[in-house]
Amino acid sequence: MRYSKDYLFDLAFRFLRATGSDEGEASIVADHMIKANLRGHDSHGIGMIGMYTNYLKAGYLHPNTPPTLVKDKGSILQFQGNLGYGQRAGFEATAAAIARAKENGLCMYTIANCCHLGRIGTYGEMAADAGMVSIHFVNVNQYHPLVAPYCGSEARFGTNPFCVAMPGTDKYGMFVLDFATSIVALGKTRVAMLAGKKFDEPVIVDPEGRLTNDPNVMWQENPGALLAFAKHKGSGLCFACELMAGILSGGETIQPAHPRNDSIVNNMTAFVIDPAALCDLTFMRSEMEAMIDYVKSSHAADPVNNPVLMPGEPERIRTKDRLENGIEIADGEFNVIKKTCLDAGVDASLFA
Ligand code: NAD
Repeated sequence: MRYSKDYLFDLAFRFLRATGSDEGEASIVADHMIKANLRGHDSHGIGMIGMYTNYLKAGYLHPNTPPTLVKDKGSILQFQGNLGYGQRAGFEATAAAIARAKENGLCMYTIANCCHLGRIGTYGEMAADAGMVSIHFVNVNQYHPLVAPYCGSEARFGTNPFCVAMPGTDKYGMFVLDFATSIVALGKTRVAMLAGKKFDEPVIVDPEGRLTNDPNVMWQENPGALLAFAKHKGSGLCFACELMAGILSGGETIQPAHPRNDSIVNNMTAFVIDPAALCDLTFMRSEMEAMIDYVKSSHAADPVNNPVLMPGEPERIRTKDRLENGIEIADGEFNVIKKTCLDAGVDASLFA
């Protein structure tokens, strides 16, 4: 079934209001989730409310909790997330960093210990919308490690996402490179296992160190670990996210001396840069446009099904489709969303 973004926003907003969030927080978090659905990243969309309910009940997620500014050193802002909704902490901290970068040309900001930040590209898009360039390093603690280091067979990292965003040009939209540093997300291994499918390439390493495309390995008693993308390079970037986000934010790394309760806690270290402090904006736009033209002119083997796209473009294509035709949600997932909403006290007439 396909559902309109307004309907899904309404469900998410009412769920958040019913579970303790004030109007402002509910609006920010619901907007983040529904934009993730629109962009095609359903793993960070409205389907997250089931997990958030568990966290709320366990006291791992504190509604109505804004991030607090704990250090202000001009071009450095450090926030404590206080286990509030990461989407709110990310929104408020990024807005403050954009304002500071407009004054100083650059703002480095960190957020420690917020609950799930969601889709990191959202913060890149915020910066690019304001005419800024941004770079984001994120790590995950509290959740058990999922990703093996290069040549290792046991997990030592979260799926640590990385993002770089630049403002758009008249011809093309903004550049938004935003990905997890594992080849596939854990959720994708569950979907493949339930569907009885194997991956086309090895994406997992089993406890004996053998690479495998079998998703069951992630769900057996002694599970394997996800592989980082691009061998030592992706593993290195995952490691960099761990150190940059876990240490500079003060929120800690995933090393085993720290307790773990298997909720998702994120830390982020990010940079917002005003390009006008470095170069002429007309130069920037014309150079970007020429470079993107050049990249896209590379001959694609299958231009109809697999054209050369720029980072951010698949999300724009999916957003256009989903705005026009609705957001597709499988019945099984929608039933979980419905039950989560009804259990929270959301008006049943919304599901009539
Ligand atoms: P993905 O593998 O879909 O890659 C997305 C990136 O690749 C985007 O920048 C996209 O524009 C680009 N891209 C995709 N196809 C392309 C193509 N054909 N040509 C050019 N560029 C292309 O993303 P993912 O790794 O599955 O991550 C999904 C989301 O999960 C991200 O938004 C990430 O921030 C989020 N995430 C969050 C956490 C967290 O702890 N909060 C952890 C992991 C991932």
